[in-house]
Amino acid sequence: MKDKLARLGIHSLWDRVLHLPLRYEDETHLYPIADAPAGQSVLVEGEIIESGVRFQGRRILACKIEDGSGSLEIRFMNFYPSQVKMLEKGKRMRFFGEVRAGFLGKEMIHPKVSRAGIEPNDALTPVYPTTAGLTQKKLKMLIDEALESVALSETLPRTMLSRLSLPGFEESIRFLHDPPPDAKRSELDSRTHPAWTRIKFDELLAQQLSMRLHYRNRKGRSAPVFRTQGKLVDALLASLPFELTDAQKRVYGEIARDLASGNPMQRLLQGDVGSGKTIVAALASLLAIEAGFQAAVMAPTEILAEQHFAKFSKWLEPLGVRTAWLSSSLKKKEKEAALKKIERGEADLAIGTHALFQEQVAFGKLGLAIVDEQHRFGVHQRLALRQKGSNEPHQLMMSATPIPRTLAMSYYADLDVSMIDQLPPGRTPVVTKLVSNDRREEVILRVRSACLEGSQAYWVCPLIEESESLQLQTAIDTHARLVGDFPEIRVGLVHGRMPNGEKAAVMREFQDGKIKLLVATTVIEVGVDVANASVMVIEHAERMGLSQLHQLRGRVGRGTSNSVCLLLYQAPLGRTARERLKAIFETSDGFEIARRDLALRGPGEFLGARQSGVPMLRFADIGEDELLAAARKAADELLASDRDAVNRHLERWMGEKSEYLRV
Ligand code: ADP
Ligand code: MG
Repeated sequence: MKDKLARLGIHSLWDRVLHLPLRYEDETHLYPIADAPAGQSVLVEGEIIESGVRFQGRRILACKIEDGSGSLEIRFMNFYPSQVKMLEKGKRMRFFGEVRAGFLGKEMIHPKVSRAGIEPNDALTPVYPTTAGLTQKKLKMLIDEALESVALSETLPRTMLSRLSLPGFEESIRFLHDPPPDAKRSELDSRTHPAWTRIKFDELLAQQLSMRLHYRNRKGRSAPVFRTQGKLVDALLASLPFELTDAQKRVYGEIARDLASGNPMQRLLQGDVGSGKTIVAALASLLAIEAGFQAAVMAPTEILAEQHFAKFSKWLEPLGVRTAWLSSSLKKKEKEAALKKIERGEADLAIGTHALFQEQVAFGKLGLAIVDEQHRFGVHQRLALRQKGSNEPHQLMMSATPIPRTLAMSYYADLDVSMIDQLPPGRTPVVTKLVSNDRREEVILRVRSACLEGSQAYWVCPLIEESESLQLQTAIDTHARLVGDFPEIRVGLVHGRMPNGEKAAVMREFQDGKIKLLVATTVIEVGVDVANASVMVIEHAERMGLSQLHQLRGRVGRGTSNSVCLLLYQAPLGRTARERLKAIFETSDGFEIARRDLALRGPGEFLGARQSGVPMLRFADIGEDELLAAARKAADELLASDRDAVNRHLERWMGEKSEYLRV
């Protein structure tokens, strides 16, 4: 039994109390067959007027009942001989299930069967999430037991509850486990009933409290202080062919202040595709290096890490910075040499993929860790990194997917957030075109002329979610076809299954302009920066997510020439696909795209990855803006004035995990 409960995440009595129904069934009253509403399970009762075993591809038990208002077909695909007997012609029985319009009129498949003539239930029946071998009945019993044995005391001050018009905790919990027969089904099912609101609020509050406490804990810890004259920073700025934008200067200032504060920085740098986050990261790393510490730069893919390595080397080596490159394609000896340099402090800056840094890389004196284009930085991952060096390093995270400020404030309540809300000047906006697949020939012509005129192009192959090998095959086929189409142009191919060294070589040739057209899988989605590329073709754009499309499109329009993004799609389009393509066509503002993506996908999925790092939400949805804002405010209020309430509340919602958060 314990195992089964554990599978449901139930360990303590409190977990049972907080195990709430998924939905409810209404066995409180009998419906005339003719009035049974569609789409929900109902109770009906009638006389069996036909019954028998039939053969329809398999043996089925079919009967027909009548109740005076109408008749209903009832079918069982699996049945016992005893059921055939129970459902004999002439008997009156009761059935609970969904009435649907079937081929032979109204029908009910696999209903729950009971005797006729007894009083219906006097309350809605909760249906809980459960697991194999644990019946609803047994689970409900265990929950009822818990409801009897723990005190469902109030964690929040009365004044707060009345100001927010929230019902009490005990009242809400009892209501949700045992709603009375007159409870509004629609409010229960849509989880808009005040009792649900209260539970969701509590959960969001616990989340906000824990994130704010993480934040405070961090501000109470110490970290290296980078006090420098800024010589290296000045030298890099002087060597750049451009000036920083105001937004870049502002966020650099925010970072520099953190790095001199003596407390570990955990700052999220948000900025649209192409807004120039990399140079800000390079400046930050120079602050660490000039102060005598090491910096590390981590990227999600090899291609991106390689590109960063090239860029940082170009920028920083002239300033005397010693870099180390960590790639899985390095030979054993080279890798050992790099690791040694990092460990002995003979390298000032180490660059590689996240994966490599997760393995045991020991730093001599790590002062700053930079995580690029990462969407998945949970609390746990950050802690893991912190323990790597002896001293807690500062951390700068750069987001691939900017999210609106209000959401960021709640969702990243454990971090500080900086925004680059401005693109470097002189960019010509990318023209986006939607092209139906049957006009592919025109696209080919267009790509050819762009390449012959000295530009470069990407050709992104469709995402095939079901099968990576199929996606790979498509890329190989597309490449072969395009090589045939463009005898006069060099066409390269890059995909995720290629050995890293080969991948890097292809990217280098593309960067150097030797390869004009690059056929790629979605591996180039993030970060790749080749200014001369001005055409982006995306096949089967209808299969891709909004932020993915935005990221891909962001690979062009990085230089000063006119760029175009051609989105090939296969008609007919589904509703979501149409909305996505419409959004990407209409706007190129990353924050606006994020807003629309959020609306289309819902925040659970949009922000899904981060759920690994912050307390999971079971009931509330991070997109419930108003409730979330209220929870954030309440968290600040309680932290300032009611420590007891904070501890009580965290203990209830986070159990043992709340121990180290106590205030
Ligand atoms: P992202 O924010 O998407 O990571 P990058 O850092 O790759 O963007 O920058 C995109 C391009 O813009 C790079 O080629 C970079 O050198 C260039 N860039 C960055 N800042 C400026 C600036 N202030 N003025 C002109 N170009 C800039
Ligand atoms: Mg980048």
